[in-house]
Amino acid sequence: MRKYIDLHTHSTASDGTVSPGELPALAAGNNIVALALTDHDSIAGLDEAAARAERLGLEFIRGCELSCTAEYGEVHVLGLWLPGYIPEFEQSLALLRERRKRRNQRMLEILKNLGMPVDLAEFPQNLNSLGRPHMARLLLRKGYVRSIQEAFERFLGKDRPAYFPKENYSPEEAVKLLGQTRALVVLAHPLLINVPKNILRDQLESLLQKLVPLGLDGLEAYHSEYGNADVRLALELADKYRLLVSGGSDFHGGNKPGVSLGKGCGDLCVPCSVLDKLKARVREKQGGQE
Ligand code: AMP
Ligand code: ZN
Ligand code: FE
Ligand code: FE
Repeated sequence: MRKYIDLHTHSTASDGTVSPGELPALAAGNNIVALALTDHDSIAGLDEAAARAERLGLEFIRGCELSCTAEYGEVHVLGLWLPGYIPEFEQSLALLRERRKRRNQRMLEILKNLGMPVDLAEFPQNLNSLGRPHMARLLLRKGYVRSIQEAFERFLGKDRPAYFPKENYSPEEAVKLLGQTRALVVLAHPLLINVPKNILRDQLESLLQKLVPLGLDGLEAYHSEYGNADVRLALELADKYRLLVSGGSDFHGGNKPGVSLGKGCGDLCVPCSVLDKLKARVREKQGGQE
């Protein structure tokens, strides 16, 4: 039977709908042999997920995903194989969560003013781990929109009426912050940056030229939202800039309908060789402790 690895997932510690404890069980049931939990701006779910993964005999990778702001919109940076105790980094995350809380308060006020009052009690998360996907799901549940996609297109997406920006680190700062923890630093879904197709490659190359010297280790060459051409370009850029490759589903449970753990939209399969190469780099960076 085919075995899968998934190095990009979210739990209820950020904007997923599956708890950190349940995620490894779901992964094991999906033939996943190695799983990373990479919640947005949070490492709160890692201990619980690690403990459950260990009981299940599943290889678990401690991770997180930082949302960053570039000129053209958001760029996400993943830290993988985070060490267990990282007080300074945790302070940086706490700042991000505080900013997220303020942004969420503002967006919920706007939704109320638009005639779509949302009661905080309806969210499983608290304000500082809430994400736009939760808001989208609630708008869907209340019948204000017919799909999560519609919620983003009409209200929550960038430049839509209920959008309010969040102050983020720059991609350069995120690479440095994660690098200081000695985690592996991976550019998340680079092919999804918000630029016109005709300048995508140039923009990506200039981003990589800035991030590689700061310690970027790899980029995501496999992702549930990629087509075949995206995978090819990502692999080509990884080769050109001597970067490792990573990949995952970006599973969010019910907040990203149609994306399943390990398999993405059904046809994702991150090669297991990816994991071996990443682990070799972790051993180099962390001196044999994983
Ligand atoms: P937040 O961190 O709260 O700003 O939410 C960002 C998350 O919203 C991303 O990680 C995506 O999963 C999701 N998202 C952003 N734009 C869209 C979109 N147009 N359609 C569906 N999901 C989206
Ligand atoms: Zn998310
Ligand atoms: Fe992301
Ligand atoms: Fe993600």
